[in-house]
Amino acid sequence: MDSTDPVRQLDAVVVGAGFSGLYMLHRLRRLGYDTQVFDAASDVGGTWWWNRYPGARCDIESMDYSYSFDPDLEQEWEWSERYATQPEILAYANHVADRYDLRRDIQFGTRVTSAVWQTDPGRWLVTTDRGQRLSARFCIMAVGCLSAAKRPEIDGIDSFAGPEYHTGEWPHDGVDFTGLRVGVIGTGSSGIQSIPLIAEQASELVVFQRTPNYAQPARNAPLDPGFVAARKADYRRHRELARTETHGGVVIPAPEASALDVGDEEREQLLRERWEAGTLFGLLSSYNDVMVDADANAKVAEFVHDRIRDIVDDPAVAEKLVPTSYPFGTKRVCLDTGYYATFNRANVTLVDLQETPIEQIVPEGVRTTEKVHELDALVFATGFDAMTGALLRPDIVGAGGVLLRDKWSAGPRTYLGLATAGFPNLFMITGPGSPSVMTNMMVSIEQHVDWIADCLAAMEEHGHAVIEAEPDAEDAWVAHVNELAGFTLYPRAASWYMGANVPGKPRVFMPYIGGVGPYRQVCDSVAADGYRGFSLGPAGSRATPEAVRA
Ligand code: FAD
Ligand code: NAP
Repeated sequence: MDSTDPVRQLDAVVVGAGFSGLYMLHRLRRLGYDTQVFDAASDVGGTWWWNRYPGARCDIESMDYSYSFDPDLEQEWEWSERYATQPEILAYANHVADRYDLRRDIQFGTRVTSAVWQTDPGRWLVTTDRGQRLSARFCIMAVGCLSAAKRPEIDGIDSFAGPEYHTGEWPHDGVDFTGLRVGVIGTGSSGIQSIPLIAEQASELVVFQRTPNYAQPARNAPLDPGFVAARKADYRRHRELARTETHGGVVIPAPEASALDVGDEEREQLLRERWEAGTLFGLLSSYNDVMVDADANAKVAEFVHDRIRDIVDDPAVAEKLVPTSYPFGTKRVCLDTGYYATFNRANVTLVDLQETPIEQIVPEGVRTTEKVHELDALVFATGFDAMTGALLRPDIVGAGGVLLRDKWSAGPRTYLGLATAGFPNLFMITGPGSPSVMTNMMVSIEQHVDWIADCLAAMEEHGHAVIEAEPDAEDAWVAHVNELAGFTLYPRAASWYMGANVPGKPRVFMPYIGGVGPYRQVCDSVAADGYRGFSLGPAGSRATPEAVRA
């Protein structure tokens, strides 16, 4: 392909074929749109195509972590476990792609490298790493919040003599660690899920921990057929509750009491129930002030600290695993299977990098200020350039030649996490400024896709070709997102929610913390009010907001 090849004309380009891109394609087909989806991966599934590390599974219950848009789909699919494994979730993504015949509009193994807005004729010129050029009325970024894998900035990282793996780019044939001395750097969810299984295989496992994380037992188990039948009988109502509830898109009773207004015994009992129940939001939503009041939060934190001390035999190791430098829940809580107990194994060593920081990776292993830990294989469970990484990797150039990367140099700025001023006809699915990673992502993905598809249909109906977020509406939304975050304890942690895991990245709390139900109401009211905060108009122009309301 070269620059003289014809530019393919389309209605929409969708970047990404994970759960967002798949459902977006399905909805665009129903609008009759000629759509091309691209994914750098060689098949569908996004997160679940890339993250094949041992122990990878969802932390939202399978029957919730699935599409709700088609009642037949949710009735026919059978999840086998409470928390599905990565292969099972990937099989589900494949089933969806087959069931709705989606693959014929998806080109795999292809990375979108740039998208340039052309004001006249009002289209996006999209290019790929295969040299293709496409012209589309709409460009929809379904690139994922956690898809730009991040290796650690450690001296000598390429000098290690053995194999290195990143959890987010795991080899498809799997890795056999039998008899090997393995190092894992990172103790977020990916590390916490993989460490127990790697420990079972490896002859020695060295875990390099920079910051201890809060984890609670998932209590995973095969799904009880009676539970499945009851849920399927009530699925529609359950889904509606998840869509409209005030927190993370899972049905959980809203807490009414403060953690400080109940006696120690009563609080201990509720926290124990939540600990035993094994759900991601159980402890977080045990009391109404856990995430807004430091003293209330400390009660929950102390409860978890004691559980860690119960599980880990060596008191010195237990203390290293106890998180004390940030409030409970301000870094994503992990659901684990045997994580803390893994440190009772004779072949597992915990290296506290606060005490003995890594100096360098050397051919033989990892050198800390204490010694060289000799290793045969190294695993980076070091996470992602979250929420903005995949959006900013391609050159996205808006009106007037502005690069999105430049516009967001002080942090992402969006209206509703769906669009950004100066970039007409560009939508983001679960973009920064939307609830996204604070929630059951399937609920958030479906809501965004439905909103975008409905918006496009409304534009057709009113004869509009161009939609763009208004700068004032964006400013107000960014201020609102920050204001809400400021009421909470979240900004107190150096988390990836804050961009703190990427050196040089602006420290801004990126997701919207107001809950999926309230957020949906805002989005719906914006649409009902003639797309308040957006300007709409014919191609080649920017209309006044009044034009669409007429
Ligand atoms: P992704 O699944 O990330 O897909 C994005 C796709 O876009 C990728 O395949 C990528 O290759 C492609 N892409 C990106 N940029 C380009 C480009 N320039 N050109 C071409 N292709 C591109 N959420 C939950 O709610 N519950 C969970 O239990 C849960 N578990 C998770 C476990 C792991 C290990 C991780 C990493 C995340 C988890 N998440 C979970 C979040 C998860 O990312 C979402 O639930 C969901 O899968 C996101 O779907 P998506 O389609 O939006 O993005
Ligand atoms: P993460 O939460 O960002 O964890 C990365 C870990 O690597 C942290 O412990 C971090 O330490 C450490 N690290 C990073 N750079 C380092 C360095 N240079 N030296 C030493 N340590 C370093 O990433 P993740 O575990 O991949 O998870 C990301 C998100 O994906 C999760 O929060 C969750 O939303 C999702 N996820 C979900 C599941 C699930 O249970 N379903 C599983 C995996 C991922 P610091 O804390 O000090 O930065």
